[in-house]
Amino acid sequence: MSEVITRFAPSPTGHLHIGGARTAIFSWLLARHFGGRFYLRIEDTDLLRSKQEYTDAILASMRWLGLDWDGEPVYQTQRAGLYNSLVDSLLASGHAYWCECTPEEVEAMRESARSCGAKPRYNGKCRERGLGPGEGRCVRLKIPLTGKIVFEDMVKGRIAVDVEELDDMVLRRADGMPTYNMAVVADDNEMGVTHVIRGDDHVSNTPRQILIYEALDLPVPRFGHVPMILGRDRQKLSKRHGARSVMEYEQEGLLPQALVSYLARLGWSHGDQELFSRQELIAFFDGGNLNPAAAAFDPAKLEWTNAQFMRALPMDDLADLVAPFVRREYAEDGLDDVPQNRLVGLCLLFRERASDLLALARAFRPLLLPATRLVYSEKDAAKHLTETGKGHLRALMGILEACEPFEAASINRILNSYVADNNLTFKDVAPPLRTALMGFMGGSHLNEIMAFLGREETLARIRRACLL
Ligand code: GLU
Repeated sequence: MSEVITRFAPSPTGHLHIGGARTAIFSWLLARHFGGRFYLRIEDTDLLRSKQEYTDAILASMRWLGLDWDGEPVYQTQRAGLYNSLVDSLLASGHAYWCECTPEEVEAMRESARSCGAKPRYNGKCRERGLGPGEGRCVRLKIPLTGKIVFEDMVKGRIAVDVEELDDMVLRRADGMPTYNMAVVADDNEMGVTHVIRGDDHVSNTPRQILIYEALDLPVPRFGHVPMILGRDRQKLSKRHGARSVMEYEQEGLLPQALVSYLARLGWSHGDQELFSRQELIAFFDGGNLNPAAAAFDPAKLEWTNAQFMRALPMDDLADLVAPFVRREYAEDGLDDVPQNRLVGLCLLFRERASDLLALARAFRPLLLPATRLVYSEKDAAKHLTETGKGHLRALMGILEACEPFEAASINRILNSYVADNNLTFKDVAPPLRTALMGFMGGSHLNEIMAFLGREETLARIRRACLL
């Protein structure tokens, strides 16, 4: 195959959402799989709704996801010359013509077509009039009167559209701006794009774009239209279904590789594999196996996917990743300066219990607070810090004071002997101890919690709990 060139072409009218991110992932993967190129094009021609801050946010989200693009992003607002030159050449070759029909006239034509049960369309009034340029005139493509546009979609298979269903579309508006279809064809051709992957909300534009390619005698790229991502109720995806923008996922502590793996699986499969490293995705994704049926977004599965990726990380890497969340979460408490080795210890204790970095950072709270600031759950304290419970805690204080070395294994041994020597079960001892150390009935293995806290802090917590 000749070089594969793909692109992602967002309109900067909002943040990058998961639908757009998935389109970007597929386009990026196809290029990377075939060792080709992946370009970014900012479709900013809607001057009212496009904002620089959205462009910046989209680029930041792409970077965070690791979707590196080749060259510099292309901005449509900077390419009027390219669009005009192609429109001019279509005029010169007789494939396009000037039209002076007003929007009201065109609407009336549509209405009259509708009233006879036909497709609403422009009736070709100016097609053979040989008009030249002039105020208020647009340029339209002179499409063939009969025939079919046929293309093999990478996702949907063969699509055939009768040209009689289409009309002489506008290429350049009366205000001189190119239409979306004209600009996209001009850009995709100029950028050498060989495969266009986009949302299937654009599938009805594709036959029109093919007509422009044909009129310009340019090679037509391959198209792949991926179905929308839906909510679990099969309705249009929104925040209410738990969907967030890519930037929000970053702030909530998702791992980019988890989001990429999850989104790639939404509409694509490779056997029954669920989790993919970046390298695996690049190796396996060749544009095949794209599902023509709409996939439903499942926040619980995304959370599960993220938890799996978090658990597979080397502990040092996880500590580095959680560090900014700890700084943010604990700045107000003055507890944000946690050394790396303590972060590693905390990650060891809690990573099986959190499914994102923010939840992980929050789980650290009871162990980061000093004994004096520990907050006790009223319910757990009332239930477990009873006189009997406190009796065990006092006895354990003496034993823990003497425990050498103060490490998880030796702490375990002395806890076991205390339970055995006094004919108790762990259920008698663990709840008061856990409530004393954590403030509530949560957390990891008690011996590991104590080893992490160290002797002094462990004893301070038990002492304070005994006084409650
Ligand atoms: N700018 C269009 C969008 O954001 C994409 C057009 C295309 O991929 O051809 O929906």
